[in-house]
Amino acid sequence: MISKTISGVLNGIEGIPIEIETFISRGLPSHQIVGLPNQVIKESKERVRSAIKNAGYQFPDQRITQNMSPANIRKEGSHLDLPIAVGILASEFESNFAYLNSVAFVGELSLVGEIKPVKGILSLLDGFKKAGIAHVVCPAENVTEAKYVEGLALYPYASLELLMKDMIAGRLIEYEDRNVPKKENPHYDMDFEDIIGQSQAIRAVEIAAAGFFNMLLIGPPGCGKTMIAERIATILPTLTLQEKIELTKVYSLSDENTSYDLVELRPVRAPHHSITRPSLVGGGNKLEPGEVSKAHNGVLILDEFPEFRKEVIEALREPMVNGKIQITRNQRTADFPAGFMLVATMNPCSCGYYLSATQSCMCNIYEIRRYLNKISGPILDRFDLHLFMDRVSLDSKACSSSRELRERIQVAENHRRGRGQTVPNAKMGKGDINRFCNLSEEAKTMMTRYYSEGKLSMRRYDKLLKISRTIADLESVQLIERHHIMEAMQYQNLERLKKSL
Ligand SMILES: [Zn+2]
Repeated sequence: MISKTISGVLNGIEGIPIEIETFISRGLPSHQIVGLPNQVIKESKERVRSAIKNAGYQFPDQRITQNMSPANIRKEGSHLDLPIAVGILASEFESNFAYLNSVAFVGELSLVGEIKPVKGILSLLDGFKKAGIAHVVCPAENVTEAKYVEGLALYPYASLELLMKDMIAGRLIEYEDRNVPKKENPHYDMDFEDIIGQSQAIRAVEIAAAGFFNMLLIGPPGCGKTMIAERIATILPTLTLQEKIELTKVYSLSDENTSYDLVELRPVRAPHHSITRPSLVGGGNKLEPGEVSKAHNGVLILDEFPEFRKEVIEALREPMVNGKIQITRNQRTADFPAGFMLVATMNPCSCGYYLSATQSCMCNIYEIRRYLNKISGPILDRFDLHLFMDRVSLDSKACSSSRELRERIQVAENHRRGRGQTVPNAKMGKGDINRFCNLSEEAKTMMTRYYSEGKLSMRRYDKLLKISRTIADLESVQLIERHHIMEAMQYQNLERLKKSL
């Protein structure tokens, strides 16, 4: 007889349903699986054989052929153990397996027949849902994560033996508890309270965080650039459930999230400047997400920005424009989300003290110019705000707490959503700008004057509007006023400095 079982595979964070046909016939005992890479078949076959025996069933002493389709997609992953085993057992209990045609199976088997949790469960389930498959048998340990995909009936099982018993009896037990558990407020170990002084920089950070703007912090060594950058995620609005799911899909593919639960906090990624292009954007044999995707919905910090390789900085262009990245490897292509806020830091010159009030700079004007020119015009253009910082004296006041800052940013966020704007201010397109960036008469005159005097490129003009919009949002006002624009203009320091040199 031939049985069919449904399962799925992953391509990046996309789940694709597949079908496994099992044909058992007389002949010399053998087990052939078509459509899997060799190494994976070998391991899977061993686990399946042992698990079936330990679940109390006989492994058929016949010729078993299993075929996975469609043929043109790459199938791998230990989560295929369960559908392979179910396919084989289905031949024995043919008449009773009423579920087989409408249920998808996902799970890794241990040698004793336990159903072990798998990676990428949210992606797999989303794939089933899109294909109209509404019932899924999944590992019991995956259910805390799996239950967030709505509109699917889940049947979590911890062992092959229990699953078989229920399947033979014709009743799978559905998971009912759809309540989102109340978790203790997740929090970071860092806080803006730790920072002394730097009120101007913190104000710029507040604006950047409220609009999700990319930021370049320039200042002498030890002035606190990195400390500030690391804390930006602590003041971003709390992740929505949809954002958590997206992030969990990404982390589920890396070895970093082993809890089989939702990612709760916005990520902060700070790769070293020696990072290679593949580690930054993703790749590898299994098409794993890179730092840009692990920073999705969070902050990507590039400390000592001029020290990063040119090709690495260049590779940031695609994700910064599209909010996602496409990776091609071994004739496979996958899309990963990569919508991060970039925060880069750099010294103002090679000695580090140009423009510092605390120590004098040893560089001559040519050296300074050469150093700053490491950041070319097009790259500088990707930063919405740049800001010069200096060391502060120790008696400076401590900064607002992360909670206070986050509350202010939440006010701006609510104001933005209240006017029907779905994207953060940094991501506004032309249409959004025309619709939402309304200027007072005075502000209009001012912008027109700057523009006609040639002080602003079109791109800078738009950026200025978006930043001004954000400052107005922090005050919960509809119209952009002159003073909003005046403040926004302060955060374009580096461009002005480069021109003056
Ligand atoms: Zn210097």
